[in-house]
Amino acid sequence: MKDYLVKAYAFGGTVRIYSARTTQLVEQARNIHKTYPAASAAFGRLLTNSLIMGAMYSEDQTLTIRINGNGPIGTMITSVDAHGHVKGTVENPQVHYSYKDKLAVGMVVGNQGYIHVTKDLKIRDTFTSSAEIQTGEIAEDFTYYFAKSEQIPSSVGLGVLVDENNKVFASGGFILQIMPGAKDETITKIENNIKAMKPISELINDCKTPEEIIEEITKGDHEIVEEMPLSYVCDCNKERFKNGLSTLDNGELESMIDDGEDINITCDFCKKQYSFTVDDIKEIKSNKS
Ligand SMILES: [Zn+2]
Repeated sequence: MKDYLVKAYAFGGTVRIYSARTTQLVEQARNIHKTYPAASAAFGRLLTNSLIMGAMYSEDQTLTIRINGNGPIGTMITSVDAHGHVKGTVENPQVHYSYKDKLAVGMVVGNQGYIHVTKDLKIRDTFTSSAEIQTGEIAEDFTYYFAKSEQIPSSVGLGVLVDENNKVFASGGFILQIMPGAKDETITKIENNIKAMKPISELINDCKTPEEIIEEITKGDHEIVEEMPLSYVCDCNKERFKNGLSTLDNGELESMIDDGEDINITCDFCKKQYSFTVDDIKEIKSNKS
């Protein structure tokens, strides 16, 4: 089953809802970063939320989301575009707690810190907005972020389930946002529908599609306006790391050359390795001066 996102307008266009299935890409992220179960859930929720947020913005925009709640997982960073491509890093992927048989995401993320969202509009500047982490459960934290930093009343549901082999077998989520002009009775109706829903990870585990999840929220009063495939993609290449090396000062490059060993650099996002020989370093140094 492929990963994808749908966007819908509901209740006469006064509510917008995004819903996503991310099972395959979160499993791919687990394989890349070797996350333990609670870390897989924390990172998976963040990846899902990031992809949905990316889809809220226009064509060329990219977002970088950084979250650190001072819990054992440390800093998680994601980078996402408006076309369903995400990548990310986890500082300490091998952490795990559970509580009453549930993955304790709030415990691994921690609740003493901030979410920072940097928008790169590809015009000139970047803009960063921030909000305090509330619980470390990710969904509550972004609900608060949308209310505080963007003044948009929202409801966020995110879930990741792992099997007995620690493989990710269900992941997804939704973000619902109330637009200006929504009626109080609409909001009450949505609140009641969401209260009556099963947890999002169970809905995905029950093979509910993103469309069916939206159906649960609106009971049919909506129109799907967009569908987008989702994937975990890293756009790194050797040239970029070469440019990185060329920013080192001559003394540092000199000592690498003197050491006489290949320099291996690993991409933080996809763990791909790039190797530079002493001759490569000499070339980088000579092109600098
Ligand atoms: Zn990479």
